[in-house]
Amino acid sequence: MKNIMLIAPPAAGKGTQAEMVVKKYGIPHISVGDILREISKEDSELGNYVLETMTSGKLVKDEITYQLIENRLQQEDCKNGFIIDGFPRNIEQALKYDEILQKINQPIGNVILIDVDPKTLEKRITGRRICEDCHAIFNINDKNQAPQVESFCDYCGGHLYQRSDDNIEAFQNRYQTYLEKTAPIIKHYEDMGVLVSVDGTQSMEEVFQDIVHIIQGSEK
Ligand SMILES: [Zn+2]
Repeated sequence: MKNIMLIAPPAAGKGTQAEMVVKKYGIPHISVGDILREISKEDSELGNYVLETMTSGKLVKDEITYQLIENRLQQEDCKNGFIIDGFPRNIEQALKYDEILQKINQPIGNVILIDVDPKTLEKRITGRRICEDCHAIFNINDKNQAPQVESFCDYCGGHLYQRSDDNIEAFQNRYQTYLEKTAPIIKHYEDMGVLVSVDGTQSMEEVFQDIVHIIQGSEK
């Protein structure tokens, strides 16, 4: 059984790690956004409600989201575990998530915090450059990811640009929200004794190795 939750600040590489875990263990990636998009295609009362709510830019009612998560986690492909992403986003949702798991008789599993200090995150975000032609991503603040010729793509020679929200102010806002909403979740799972931290300042492969160790260590 591999039930996994990854917690990480913005730009800590959570998406990449989640993909690597999915690939290695063949477990489904459970994203609340995907569940909602999927259900919105159904021609049912619920499907129509979700579609209308999403297209009008509103938030789907919590009770409905919880019910959909509960249903999703009971599907056949989750029986050997799953990785949940983008949920819970705050302590209320975390408590509700615990309830759902208890109800469907599933353990919380591994809650893994990819820990990266804000200075490092800031450097990653402000150094990010994207190729306007092939969309390859570089980082001028990291010698391993810097382009060989300044401002030009190593692969296609295209011009590199900086996304408008990859700036210090936008990062600080996102980080502040992360601290406010996520710190209580971290404390909650720490108190439960299920949270393990990995050093997210390491390379992508090293972080992944640590995550694999945690997952395998918990299976003995
Ligand atoms: Zn390119």
